[in-house]
Amino acid sequence: MARYTDPVCKRCRREGVKLFLKGSRCFSPKCPIDRDAPPPGMHGYRKGKTSEYGVRLREKQKLKFFYGLLERQFRRYFALASKAQNTGEELLSLLERRLDNVVHRLGFAPSRRAARIIIAHGHVLLNGKPCDIPSVIMKPGDVVKVKSRDKSAKLVRANMQDRQNTIPDFLEIIPGEIPEGRLIRVPSRGDVDPRISEIREQLIIEIATR
Ligand code: SF4
Repeated sequence: MARYTDPVCKRCRREGVKLFLKGSRCFSPKCPIDRDAPPPGMHGYRKGKTSEYGVRLREKQKLKFFYGLLERQFRRYFALASKAQNTGEELLSLLERRLDNVVHRLGFAPSRRAARIIIAHGHVLLNGKPCDIPSVIMKPGDVVKVKSRDKSAKLVRANMQDRQNTIPDFLEIIPGEIPEGRLIRVPSRGDVDPRISEIREQLIIEIATR
Protein backbone atom coordinates (compact mmCIF):
# COMPACT_ATOMS: atom_id res chain seq x y z
CA MET A 1 0.00 0.00 0.00
CA ALA A 2 1.35 3.42 -0.96
CA ARG A 3 1.89 5.85 1.87
CA TYR A 4 3.38 9.25 2.48
CA THR A 5 6.73 9.05 4.31
CA ASP A 6 8.12 12.61 4.15
CA PRO A 7 7.95 14.90 7.21
CA VAL A 8 4.30 15.75 7.83
CA CYS A 9 4.80 19.46 8.50
CA LYS A 10 6.26 19.81 5.01
CA ARG A 11 2.72 19.54 3.68
CA CYS A 12 1.55 22.56 5.66
CA ARG A 13 4.69 24.45 4.67
CA ARG A 14 3.97 23.70 1.00
CA GLU A 15 0.41 25.03 1.29
CA GLY A 16 1.37 27.90 3.60
CA VAL A 17 -1.48 27.12 6.00
CA LYS A 18 -2.00 24.99 9.06
CA LEU A 19 -3.53 21.65 8.09
CA PHE A 20 -3.53 20.29 11.67
CA LEU A 21 -1.92 16.97 10.83
CA LYS A 22 -0.08 16.43 14.10
CA GLY A 23 -2.46 16.79 17.00
CA SER A 24 -1.22 18.77 20.01
CA ARG A 25 1.96 19.98 18.27
CA CYS A 26 -0.23 21.99 15.89
CA PHE A 27 -1.45 24.08 18.86
CA SER A 28 2.00 24.58 20.34
CA PRO A 29 4.62 27.22 19.54
CA LYS A 30 6.62 24.46 17.81
CA CYS A 31 4.36 24.55 14.76
CA PRO A 32 6.57 25.62 11.81
CA ILE A 33 3.73 27.66 10.28
CA ASP A 34 3.46 29.75 13.45
CA ARG A 35 7.23 30.19 13.31
CA ASP A 36 7.02 31.44 9.73
CA ALA A 37 8.96 28.52 8.24
CA PRO A 38 9.59 28.80 4.47
CA PRO A 39 7.96 26.49 1.92
CA PRO A 40 10.03 23.34 1.28
CA GLY A 41 12.72 23.26 -1.38
CA MET A 42 15.76 25.34 -2.32
CA HIS A 43 13.63 28.05 -3.85
CA GLY A 44 11.02 28.06 -1.15
CA TYR A 45 10.57 31.81 -1.12
CA ARG A 46 10.61 32.12 -4.91
CA LYS A 47 8.42 35.01 -5.97
CA GLY A 48 6.11 35.04 -8.97
CA LYS A 49 2.50 34.69 -9.89
CA THR A 50 0.89 31.29 -9.52
CA SER A 51 -0.79 30.13 -12.71
CA GLU A 52 -4.52 29.44 -12.91
CA TYR A 53 -3.69 25.76 -12.98
CA GLY A 54 -1.39 26.16 -9.96
CA VAL A 55 -4.12 27.81 -7.89
CA ARG A 56 -6.48 24.90 -8.59
CA LEU A 57 -3.80 22.31 -7.98
CA ARG A 58 -2.92 23.81 -4.57
CA GLU A 59 -6.59 23.81 -3.57
CA LYS A 60 -6.91 20.13 -4.46
CA GLN A 61 -3.69 19.22 -2.67
CA LYS A 62 -4.82 21.12 0.43
CA LEU A 63 -8.00 19.06 0.58
CA LYS A 64 -6.13 15.79 0.01
CA PHE A 65 -3.52 16.52 2.67
CA PHE A 66 -6.11 17.67 5.18
CA TYR A 67 -8.10 14.43 4.94
CA GLY A 68 -4.98 12.28 4.43
CA LEU A 69 -5.81 11.05 0.93
CA LEU A 70 -3.57 9.88 -1.85
CA GLU A 71 -4.38 10.75 -5.45
CA ARG A 72 -6.07 7.45 -6.27
CA GLN A 73 -8.36 7.68 -3.24
CA PHE A 74 -9.20 11.26 -4.14
CA ARG A 75 -10.13 10.17 -7.69
CA ARG A 76 -12.40 7.46 -6.28
CA TYR A 77 -14.26 9.91 -4.02
CA PHE A 78 -14.51 12.41 -6.83
CA ALA A 79 -16.03 9.80 -9.16
CA LEU A 80 -18.60 8.97 -6.47
CA ALA A 81 -19.36 12.64 -5.79
CA SER A 82 -19.77 13.38 -9.52
CA LYS A 83 -22.95 11.31 -9.54
CA ALA A 84 -24.61 13.76 -7.16
CA GLN A 85 -26.26 17.02 -8.17
CA ASN A 86 -23.82 19.14 -6.15
CA THR A 87 -20.43 17.51 -6.70
CA GLY A 88 -18.49 19.83 -4.39
CA GLU A 89 -20.79 19.42 -1.40
CA GLU A 90 -21.05 15.67 -1.93
CA LEU A 91 -17.26 15.33 -2.09
CA LEU A 92 -16.84 17.14 1.23
CA SER A 93 -19.71 15.18 2.76
CA LEU A 94 -18.11 11.87 1.74
CA LEU A 95 -14.80 12.91 3.29
CA GLU A 96 -16.52 13.99 6.52
CA ARG A 97 -18.17 10.56 6.73
CA ARG A 98 -14.91 8.62 6.54
CA LEU A 99 -14.43 6.53 9.64
CA ASP A 100 -11.04 8.13 10.47
CA ASN A 101 -12.57 11.61 10.22
CA VAL A 102 -15.50 10.63 12.44
CA VAL A 103 -13.17 9.11 15.05
CA HIS A 104 -11.12 12.32 15.04
CA ARG A 105 -14.08 14.70 15.17
CA LEU A 106 -15.62 12.76 18.04
CA GLY A 107 -12.39 13.53 19.89
CA PHE A 108 -11.24 9.89 20.11
CA ALA A 109 -7.96 10.82 18.37
CA PRO A 110 -6.00 14.10 18.28
CA SER A 111 -5.68 14.07 14.47
CA ARG A 112 -6.94 12.14 11.46
CA ARG A 113 -3.55 10.53 11.19
CA ALA A 114 -3.77 9.32 14.81
CA ALA A 115 -7.34 8.16 14.14
CA ARG A 116 -6.12 6.01 11.26
CA ILE A 117 -3.57 4.37 13.55
CA ILE A 118 -6.17 3.73 16.26
CA ILE A 119 -8.48 2.12 13.68
CA ALA A 120 -5.77 0.11 11.92
CA HIS A 121 -4.57 -1.23 15.28
CA GLY A 122 -8.03 -2.62 15.94
CA HIS A 123 -9.18 -0.37 18.78
CA VAL A 124 -12.65 0.38 17.37
CA LEU A 125 -15.88 -1.40 16.51
CA LEU A 126 -18.24 -0.22 13.80
CA ASN A 127 -21.83 -1.22 14.50
CA GLY A 128 -20.55 -3.77 17.01
CA LYS A 129 -18.09 -5.43 14.63
CA PRO A 130 -14.31 -4.94 14.56
CA CYS A 131 -13.28 -2.58 11.74
CA ASP A 132 -9.69 -1.76 10.83
CA ILE A 133 -10.38 0.13 7.60
CA PRO A 134 -10.09 3.93 8.12
CA SER A 135 -11.63 4.78 4.73
CA VAL A 136 -15.04 3.19 5.40
CA ILE A 137 -17.83 5.67 4.63
CA MET A 138 -20.32 5.77 7.49
CA LYS A 139 -24.08 5.98 7.02
CA PRO A 140 -26.57 7.83 9.25
CA GLY A 141 -27.25 5.72 12.34
CA ASP A 142 -23.86 3.98 12.26
CA VAL A 143 -22.22 3.68 15.66
CA VAL A 144 -18.49 3.71 16.29
CA LYS A 145 -17.41 2.33 19.64
CA VAL A 146 -14.05 1.79 21.27
CA LYS A 147 -13.26 -1.81 22.24
CA SER A 148 -14.01 -2.51 25.89
CA ARG A 149 -10.50 -3.79 26.61
CA ASP A 150 -8.58 -1.61 29.04
CA LYS A 151 -5.84 -0.57 26.64
CA SER A 152 -8.23 0.80 23.99
CA ALA A 153 -10.57 2.61 26.38
CA LYS A 154 -7.70 4.20 28.33
CA LEU A 155 -6.02 5.49 25.16
CA VAL A 156 -9.20 7.05 23.80
CA ARG A 157 -10.29 8.51 27.15
CA ALA A 158 -6.92 10.27 27.44
CA ASN A 159 -7.35 11.67 23.92
CA MET A 160 -10.85 12.88 24.76
CA GLN A 161 -9.57 14.80 27.74
CA ASP A 162 -7.08 16.70 25.57
CA ARG A 163 -9.64 17.30 22.82
CA GLN A 164 -9.14 20.60 20.95
CA ASN A 165 -12.15 20.43 18.63
CA THR A 166 -15.86 20.68 19.37
CA ILE A 167 -18.20 17.84 18.37
CA PRO A 168 -20.05 18.79 15.16
CA ASP A 169 -23.86 18.69 14.92
CA PHE A 170 -23.98 15.64 12.67
CA LEU A 171 -22.30 13.50 15.33
CA GLU A 172 -23.22 12.68 18.90
CA ILE A 173 -21.45 11.08 21.80
CA ILE A 174 -23.40 8.22 23.34
CA PRO A 175 -23.07 8.48 27.14
CA GLY A 176 -21.46 5.47 28.80
CA GLU A 177 -18.27 4.17 30.27
CA ILE A 178 -16.78 3.10 26.94
CA PRO A 179 -16.35 5.96 24.43
CA GLU A 180 -18.97 5.65 21.72
CA GLY A 181 -20.46 7.95 19.10
CA ARG A 182 -23.07 8.00 16.35
CA LEU A 183 -23.39 9.64 12.93
CA ILE A 184 -26.83 11.24 13.18
CA ARG A 185 -27.21 12.51 9.62
CA VAL A 186 -25.35 13.12 6.39
CA PRO A 187 -23.09 16.17 6.91
CA SER A 188 -23.80 19.21 4.76
CA ARG A 189 -21.44 21.97 3.54
CA GLY A 190 -21.91 23.83 6.82
CA ASP A 191 -20.72 20.81 8.82
CA VAL A 192 -17.31 20.65 7.16
CA ASP A 193 -14.42 20.97 9.62
CA PRO A 194 -14.05 24.73 10.23
CA ARG A 195 -10.31 24.39 9.75
CA ILE A 196 -10.83 23.61 6.04
CA SER A 197 -14.25 25.22 5.51
CA GLU A 198 -12.77 27.98 3.35
CA ILE A 199 -11.73 25.45 0.72
CA ARG A 200 -12.96 26.43 -2.74
CA GLU A 201 -14.45 23.17 -4.00
CA GLN A 202 -15.36 24.71 -7.36
CA LEU A 203 -11.64 25.05 -8.17
CA ILE A 204 -11.11 21.40 -7.21
CA ILE A 205 -13.91 20.32 -9.53
CA GLU A 206 -12.36 22.34 -12.34
CA ILE A 207 -8.98 20.65 -12.01
CA ALA A 208 -10.38 17.17 -11.40
CA THR A 209 -12.50 17.29 -14.56
CA ARG A 210 -9.73 18.58 -16.84
FE1 SF4 B 1 3.07 20.64 11.57
FE2 SF4 B 1 0.63 20.75 12.68
FE3 SF4 B 1 1.94 22.97 12.24
FE4 SF4 B 1 0.98 21.56 10.18
S1 SF4 B 1 -0.21 22.62 11.73
S2 SF4 B 1 3.01 22.52 10.35
S3 SF4 B 1 1.26 19.49 10.95
S4 SF4 B 1 2.58 21.34 13.63
